[in-house]
Amino acid sequence: MNQADVKTALLCSGVHLPEDVRTGRKGGAGPAGGRYMVIGNCVVNAPVYGFALESPFSVKKEGTRYILNEDSCEVILVEDPHFYQLETEDGTPYKKIALLHGLDCLATTVYQKCIRWRKEPCSFCGIELSLKYGSTVLRKTPQQLLEVAQAAKNEGAAHVTLTTGTVNETDKGAFILAESASALRRTGLPVHVQVEPVKREWLETLKDSGADTIGIHIETVEKDLFRKICPGKDFSQFESAWKESLEIFGENQVSSYILVGLGEKEEKMDSQIEKMVRMGVIPYVVPFRPLSGTMMERCAPPPFDVVRRCTLFAAEKMKECGVNPFKNKAGCVRCGACSSVKDYLEML
Ligand code: SF4
Repeated sequence: MNQADVKTALLCSGVHLPEDVRTGRKGGAGPAGGRYMVIGNCVVNAPVYGFALESPFSVKKEGTRYILNEDSCEVILVEDPHFYQLETEDGTPYKKIALLHGLDCLATTVYQKCIRWRKEPCSFCGIELSLKYGSTVLRKTPQQLLEVAQAAKNEGAAHVTLTTGTVNETDKGAFILAESASALRRTGLPVHVQVEPVKREWLETLKDSGADTIGIHIETVEKDLFRKICPGKDFSQFESAWKESLEIFGENQVSSYILVGLGEKEEKMDSQIEKMVRMGVIPYVVPFRPLSGTMMERCAPPPFDVVRRCTLFAAEKMKECGVNPFKNKAGCVRCGACSSVKDYLEML
């Protein structure tokens, strides 16, 4: 297996880690329940809980090194940063405000509730779980984010991901993301925001407030499946929101998560990914991760072959169309820990 394949396999199956190093966030932005590790040139957010406990992959300690059973390659486990020990003046631990993702991305869910959660939640989503577990706070204020971002920057954080639950039906959370991005300007760190499709004026507000990149996540590209998986959202709004975002944020700065393993058909997936890439949107292809406590907790994670094929296809299309995720300034695409799409692109 090459490194990108090893990464894909770990993203799909997870890895069995010695218990004393099996730390990882159990909720929050992006695929949760993972531990960050580096294998060769690849940064991986590898699942370590739930289904990962049955994974054929395991990491063992040999002296001071960690070794993966597959290919016997060395694994570097990313250590928690020092700022996790700090607290704000009002006694809120920094790690309840934002976490370090991958190697150098400070990430947070600015508002940890969602108007869709009780009535029509997205089936894979665990946004309110970390609030329930007490590992985060409901609303991270701009001042709190600035304080934590400054500390994180001193320890090497190089960019920020801001996501949010859908706050209302009008700006859908864009206002609080804009407020946060504006506060973070003082750090000089590039900022990525993630929001549902919103009106052009909100996209412009986000850009004017200091956001450098945007993710508008369709999650699944099949209309009928989308209606089942994300019943509260409107499929028809994504294309125009991507187009407007590309005009506002510029080329290579607009992305969308595409989850693999929700029950989609291969041909439909390919044609839609190709359509997105031809528009200029970066498809951030990620294996669906069943999280405990969500509606899909009992579903199986997708097979390696399916995820590999789809991720490689997205990478090939980006190469063909000149879409370059390595030019993306901030956020999940720059971090890269949850998807092998950049790793495959590098090999082409
Ligand atoms: S790609 Fe990086 S920043 Fe985005 S959710 Fe995954 S670990 Fe977090």
